[in-house]
Amino acid sequence: MLIVQKYGGTSVGTCERIENVAQRVINAKEQGNQVVVVVSAMSGETDKLVQFSQNFCHSSYPLPNPRECDVILSSGEQVTRALLAIALESKGYKAISLSGQEAGIVTDFMHTKARIEKIHTQKICTLLEQNYIVIVAGFQGATLQGEITTLGRGGSDLSAVALAGALRADKCEIYTDVDGVYTTDPRIEPKAKKIDRISYEEMLELASMGAKVLLNRSVEMAKKLNVNLITRNSFSENEGTLITREENIMEQPIVSGIALDKNQARISIIDLNDEPGIAAKIFESLSKVSINVDMIVQTIGRDGKTDLDFTIPKTEVTQAQQVLQDFSHLFEKLEYDCNIAKVSIVGVGMKSHSGVASLCFKAMAQENINIMMIGTSEIKISMIIEDRHAQKAVRALHATYQLDQ
Ligand code: ADP
Ligand code: ASP
Ligand code: MG
Repeated sequence: MLIVQKYGGTSVGTCERIENVAQRVINAKEQGNQVVVVVSAMSGETDKLVQFSQNFCHSSYPLPNPRECDVILSSGEQVTRALLAIALESKGYKAISLSGQEAGIVTDFMHTKARIEKIHTQKICTLLEQNYIVIVAGFQGATLQGEITTLGRGGSDLSAVALAGALRADKCEIYTDVDGVYTTDPRIEPKAKKIDRISYEEMLELASMGAKVLLNRSVEMAKKLNVNLITRNSFSENEGTLITREENIMEQPIVSGIALDKNQARISIIDLNDEPGIAAKIFESLSKVSINVDMIVQTIGRDGKTDLDFTIPKTEVTQAQQVLQDFSHLFEKLEYDCNIAKVSIVGVGMKSHSGVASLCFKAMAQENINIMMIGTSEIKISMIIEDRHAQKAVRALHATYQLDQ
């Protein structure tokens, strides 16, 4: 079998833990498998690098050069990939570590949130044939011109799934610090239960709504490339969670999980001219700089004016404000609120059951939590609330849908 294993920040957080990872990799190799390992930076390292890169920012120079940021950000994974190779070699195994570029990961030019365009797998395939354990730095790639890029926070999951897809690996194991995907973040609700199997669709919604156990783009890619995706705990032998097609799951609960996202901010454009084409112009300008808009609510127009509210990642507020200044002749006021949280309930069973939404609004009412925005899809309901109520809201919803049973 060809297996891609990815180890997250906590799993490679110390030299001792890297030894533990090396032993797991050796076990897989000794079972007769070819093994490609993708590693993250040590936990906390990328946050530290982000801080460094922002050291020279001030009001007249608000954003650092993204090209240079990527040079800094990608350095965390350079350390762990080499350390793991050294650990494996010291145990007598043939191992080699590759940067994203050496591994053939080609991306577009969108520094700090690049998209993978292609993976040239020849080098990895040759090394595997030569019996090497191949270690690849996660989270990074390079443009065709050889400029280093990073894939966005949490991007090592995407590196692993993309490699598994390109190499046609038999499975892609994502090793992290919990046993798998739970009904909600077990750090918020200790009564959360591990899910044995979950559909790509539900996992994609949970991940997109804030369950950071997997990066949403990695789930999307796993679905597209038909990658057998498993999340597991690098500190235990417990069975993990299989992310698979809906038809492979026998019994579907109505609600599978609750997600919480505290990284969103709300932008409010107040008294915006209510004319055709304005929303198109605004959102086009935001998308040109890759700002990811999530929920959008527009109030009914009055006297030729309307209010437009939407959510974006907190980290993109400064950039969004700059973009929106170009439209300042079209509105009265621009406000933003970073003290919000988005709670979402996800389940494919919602498609065929009524009353799911009213139950969740009732749960919020009972906790005296005000809902500021509501967004729905076929298998999800999201609510924007004040962030101070976030934990209480998650627990109330978890109990409402009896996910602890
Ligand atoms: P890694 O560094 O291994 O990539 P992450 O910190 O990115 O790990 O993701 C694992 C964390 O995701 C867990 O420690 C847990 O707190 C959090 N998490 C959020 N939602 C869920 C969920 N539904 N199931 C499991 N873990 C979750
Ligand atoms: N080290 C990167 C981050 O912290 C990528 C990853 O861990 O997946 O975002
Ligand atoms: Mg992660």
